This record gives sequence, structure tokens and C-alpha cells, in this order.
Amino acid sequence: MSECRNYQKLINRYAMYKLTGDSLRDFVEHVVDCNDCREELEIYYTIRYGLEEDDSSNVNDNYKKYIDSCDYNGLVDKRIKDDLIVIRKNERLEKASSRMALLVNALLVFLLFLTLILKYF
Ligand SMILES: [Zn+2]
Repeated sequence: MSECRNYQKLINRYAMYKLTGDSLRDFVEHVVDCNDCREELEIYYTIRYGLEEDDSSNVNDNYKKYIDSCDYNGLVDKRIKDDLIVIRKNERLEKASSRMALLVNALLVFLLFLTLILKYF
């Protein structure tokens, strides 16, 4: 799929934690369901940590064990899953805060009416 090519261009940035916001969400939501892109990501990690002997000492402890045991499939799984959890949590927070904003607005309008009623009647 040509769509995949666009996501595969982002693999490097994703792996370096440089994707944020909507582009991170789009990437993760695609890769979680796309075996081709998942495989590309796995290949990326295999080359980065397996062949180039990239230093894994600055890698998050949650991921280190996968790198140390060369389980790049597991690494991809774990990262995608972790990112999805954070993304879903942020979505819930966003929804909750927009509902809260709506409630506050409604309350303000109500108070405005109350003030007007008390003043003029
Ligand atoms: Zn894809």
C-alpha cells in the first residue's frame, strides 16, 4: 500500500521519540494493525541494535530486556502497546476536559441569566 510508504518514512523519527501529537497517534494506530509496517519497524530495530551495536544503555528499562535478548519483535509489540495506552489516556483526558469546559460555560451562562433576573425583576 502506498499509505504504508508514508508511515515507513516515519519509522526513524518514531524510534527516536520524535513523533508527537497527531502524527504519533496516526503512526501507532496504523502500525498496530499493519503487519508490513510492524515488520519494517522490527527490521529497523534489528539493524540499529543488532548490527550496529548501538549503545542500549540510554534505553528505557522497559525496553532494554528486549534489546539485550535480541527480541525485536517483542520490542515493537511493547513499544506500540505502551504508546497506545498513553494515546488512549490522553484522548480520555482531552474528552474529560472538554466536557468540563462545556459544563463551566453552561454554568457561566446560567449565572449571567441569574444575575440579570435578580437585577431587573
Ligand atoms: Zn503499513
